[in-house]
Amino acid sequence: KKVTPERAAPTPAPEEVVKISSRERIIFPDSGQTKGQLADYYAAVAPIMLPFAGHRPVSLVRCPQGRAKKCFFQKHDSGAFGDHVHHVPIREKDGGTEDYLYVEDARGILQCVQMGTIEFHGWGSRSDDVEAPDRMVFDLDPDEGLDFADVRHAARDIRARLSDLGLVSFAMLSGGKGVHVVVPLRTGHTWDAHKDFSRRFAEALAIAEPDRFTATMSKAKRKGKIFIDWLRNQRGSTAVLPYSARARSGAPVAVPIDWNELKSIDNAHPFSIDDAKRLVERAESKALAGWGFAEQRLPDL
Ligand code: ATP
Ligand code: MN
Ligand code: MN
Repeated sequence: KKVTPERAAPTPAPEEVVKISSRERIIFPDSGQTKGQLADYYAAVAPIMLPFAGHRPVSLVRCPQGRAKKCFFQKHDSGAFGDHVHHVPIREKDGGTEDYLYVEDARGILQCVQMGTIEFHGWGSRSDDVEAPDRMVFDLDPDEGLDFADVRHAARDIRARLSDLGLVSFAMLSGGKGVHVVVPLRTGHTWDAHKDFSRRFAEALAIAEPDRFTATMSKAKRKGKIFIDWLRNQRGSTAVLPYSARARSGAPVAVPIDWNELKSIDNAHPFSIDDAKRLVERAESKALAGWGFAEQRLPDL
């Protein structure tokens, strides 16, 4: 077997570099998983997660005492996370600049976990060019009481409509209630164009099928419908990243899914942090090999 240069010079296993304290602390009380198990999950999936999660500003959902206690979104740190959680200065609306966080390797992910992180949410642009979005996400949020079959169909319809516009898209189970339809893009357009395209796409769908879809956030207008949450596509917004664990009951994870496989899935959280090995094997399967990658540009609408 050919030895690649990376293989020839092994880096130390991430757990040798990042000390995880309180490994026995229960983070998911209803299913029993500990901080140590969460760290082991992330160490195992880091190679398949980093192509999507690395080199992007992230927001973290931290629950230092476990998901049943206080959790909070964190975008900035005071330098406490460690050497492998990097900073990128980003211009704020008020004209100031704030340091956002990004990671580029398993050690960075694990330093976040050591600090009590459960979830990783990412920007639609990379830390080396934050003003150039390269990923669009349509986050399908079903009204309570809707069947997962409705979400599945909605995702497929969105895929077909995007395809009509020449865009390849991919499905991800959020680990919660919905599906995210992910559109990888080449850079070269502004955040304004990015947001504008996604808003108009969602609004066109809601106008074409007002009984099934809404493009407005209002819960009242969502009755019996699916909200196509295009607001993930504004500068500064985030979406949960592939293979992120969720701070929800059962320690579910967000997972890329092949469009064919989606047909036989009946909820958005079939995998948990207990499934690291299966997830890594799946990611290498033929069906998922190219998930999330496409060289394409936004069309003019
Ligand atoms: P579900 O499938 O259950 O809807 P989800 O991850 O899509 O799961 P949403 O509530 O639809 O959850 O949120 C979509 C995204 O918006 C999240 O993944 C997150 O990145 C972002 N988000 C939600 N709430 C906040 C918040 N309070 N602060 C910052 N970002 C948030
Ligand atoms: Mn959602
Ligand atoms: Mn949403």
